[in-house]
Amino acid sequence: MEYNIALIRGDGIGPEIVGEAVRVLEKTGEVFSHRFHFTDLLMGGCAIDRIGTPLPDETVEICLKSDAVLLGAVGGPKWDSLPGHLRPEKGLLGIRAALGLYANLRPARLYPALKDACPLKDGVCASGIDLVVVRELTGGIYFGVRGRRQGKNGQEAFDTECYSEKEIARIGKIAFDLARSRRAKVTSIDKANVLESSRLWREVMHGIAGQNAGIDYTDMLVDNAAMQLVRDPSQFDVIVTSNLFGDILSDEASMVTGSIGMLPSASLGEGRPGLYEPIHGSAPDIAGRGMANPVATILSAAMLLRSSLGLEKEARAVEAAVEETLAAGLRTADLAGPGCAPVSTGEMGVEIARRIR
Ligand code: NAD
Repeated sequence: MEYNIALIRGDGIGPEIVGEAVRVLEKTGEVFSHRFHFTDLLMGGCAIDRIGTPLPDETVEICLKSDAVLLGAVGGPKWDSLPGHLRPEKGLLGIRAALGLYANLRPARLYPALKDACPLKDGVCASGIDLVVVRELTGGIYFGVRGRRQGKNGQEAFDTECYSEKEIARIGKIAFDLARSRRAKVTSIDKANVLESSRLWREVMHGIAGQNAGIDYTDMLVDNAAMQLVRDPSQFDVIVTSNLFGDILSDEASMVTGSIGMLPSASLGEGRPGLYEPIHGSAPDIAGRGMANPVATILSAAMLLRSSLGLEKEARAVEAAVEETLAAGLRTADLAGPGCAPVSTGEMGVEIARRIR
């Protein structure tokens, strides 16, 4: 099969880590007889430098025509003092809006070889951690009516949480579909004891659960979920939640896996190409020094294979190669403990690619 993948390497360590993900995708193509056509596109600081805008029209047009988009990271101190409309982040928000990406998937998995990097006690993570947070990305309180007004006790400020049945149903569907390909368990997190928007959230989720026999479904209040994530994270498979709760819980969940350089993400829209990127930024402090961990971007490429191209076997092969490489003791600087000589970004990519079969 042939696939078109848009590449946004971006700034800082972006080009280094995307380069390694491309190496891994090319090897995957060779092993499984696929051809990936890559198109390099500008976005972020490098686009500002070359074209004067963080998100060139051509980037949006080509992304929309591609099967999927793989992004490194954008931004850096060089562009920090520019006005808001010219900042690299504007490119990021713009491409997410243009692709209508309403679902953000963030897997958090503790690799056995990295057990020591987990901040939880051995007993807590003994049964393993392998969960995905599915966060609603374009609704809720971040997009609701907000403002300030004069009240009896001085100035007041308000933000509003608003969700429609349609918005809840489409994110619910993503979570249930995902659970079917994993351990068949969905936990929906809300605050239905207090919030009306959460009560509608729960009603719609119950409706979807009723249509999904075979999926073990649970509701959980967000305060309890925050506690359960550090008490017994192994109980979770797929977590589905609103924009605000997902923002907070996905950071909490990601912390249990060790380094920020390990964590991939996928953002999905309706009938448009998905966008895949590591959760970290452009790490200007280590850019150009061959020190960046490429694993988060390589695992993002695995998510791309699975979710946008439907290549499950190939995605698993990439994930298995990452796991084997870590088990063989190879570590980039962020993961190397005392007495462990770190490998470079490129060496890590080569080691992972050669284990794909
Ligand atoms: P960051 O994630 O870039 O870096 C935080 C720390 O983690 C740094 O010490 C960095 O060296 C380290 N780190 C990050 N990724 C790593 C990797 N793959 N391997 C090894 N170490 C890694 O966050 P920051 O320093 O707050 O932001 C730097 C720039 O990135 C800013 O301009 C910010 O706006 C931008 N940013 C972009 C995105 C994105 O493109 N999606 C996301 C977050 C931040």
